[in-house]
Amino acid sequence: MTIKEQEKYAESARKGNNFTAYDAGSLDELFQYELHHPKIPVKVKGKLFLRDILGLTGMQVSLNRLPAGRTVPFLHQHKQNEELYIFIKGSGQMQIDGEVVEVKEGTAVRISPDGQRCWRNNSTEDLYYIVIQAKDGSLQQDTFDDGMASDQPPVW
Ligand code: ZN
Repeated sequence: MTIKEQEKYAESARKGNNFTAYDAGSLDELFQYELHHPKIPVKVKGKLFLRDILGLTGMQVSLNRLPAGRTVPFLHQHKQNEELYIFIKGSGQMQIDGEVVEVKEGTAVRISPDGQRCWRNNSTEDLYYIVIQAKDGSLQQDTFDDGMASDQPPVW
């Protein structure tokens, strides 16, 4: 997507004092988003990065739909970030350092920055997944150490 499109999406996000909410549409509508990036040799249809839209500061997240039969045509790795791929619908395969992992709805795969990764949808139905990346080793406090109960009741 272009910077202008990205700004348009960000403008339509709902912003509160302590939150930002963006409605990306249903999973079936993910093909409306197309990523154009100078480092990627092809336009990627069905990929939406959320960091700039939501103002995320500690992670990057993308929503993805890979068409049936499609293979990501290159391996990549990262300098600093670990990645978590959460598959939410469909099935396919990931390849990490030459090892093949079967993935399907409910599969979560964490990859270290150095891992040479690629994935494909070798099925006859589209594959849907969420990718989260954050700096490897950056999490300082786990859920129960970081979360604090509030003394205010919900308003609804
Ligand atoms: Zn990556």
